[in-house]
Order: sequence, then C-alpha cells, then structure tokens
Amino acid sequence: MANELILIVEDNEKNRKLVRDVLQVKGYKTIETETGEEGIRMAQESQPALILMDIQLPGMDGIAALKHLRADPKTRDIPVIAVTASAMTNKRETMLAEGFDGYQNKPISIKDFLEEVGKVLEAHRGVREAS
Ligand code: MN
Repeated sequence: MANELILIVEDNEKNRKLVRDVLQVKGYKTIETETGEEGIRMAQESQPALILMDIQLPGMDGIAALKHLRADPKTRDIPVIAVTASAMTNKRETMLAEGFDGYQNKPISIKDFLEEVGKVLEAHRGVREAS
C-alpha cells in the first residue's frame, strides 16, 4: 500500500528531485516545497500521510517547523521524518528527542530511506487503527 501522499520540505533542488523520484517509483504521491512556512500551510491543506523535513531551510528551520506542526490539532498527528546533513543535527537520538518520528542523514541511502518511510507510515497506521 504505497499510494500515500508524502510532503517533501527541502530547499535543495537536487535532493528534492532525488527524494521525489525514489518515492514516485514506489507508487507514493508527492507534493513539495522549499520552505518550512509553506510546508506548514501545505500540511494543513493537504493532510499528507507523512512529511519529510529538511532541517536547514531558508527562514524557519525544520525543527521550528515541526514545533508549529505539533502545536496545531490539524497537523500534530502527521508523522515527520527529519532528513539532514547538518553536523549539529546528524544524530538520530537528538532528532527523535526533538519529536521527529524518524531520521535519515544526507546523502540518503535509497534502501535505508525507503525502509524508514515504510516503517514510519506503518507505525502511524497502527496508531490510527488503534484509536
Ligand atoms: Mn536544506
């Protein structure tokens, strides 16, 4: 079941294209933006099944964007995977402690990346069905 809508928040065009292509080949639908501010608006409007959040973004960073998403009842239950290359944020435990549901470092490994996407979507489906 890989037809879920995934929101990609990533300011680097090359990274955005790679992630989009990898997800679309697997059958996921994607929407995308270059900024955290627009990502929040798109999440509210489109209710994606998952958000992939770059951390270093122009304007609001990915951690601040996550806090906005979590503060809004319309978006707080959407799982968010941090995708980052920053030395400050390249530790899985650090990002999970910030409240992210998953973590991938850049450059992404396609196999690990798709496993993480599948795992987080699956975990969230379990939560939805239990509630
Ligand atoms: Mn970036």
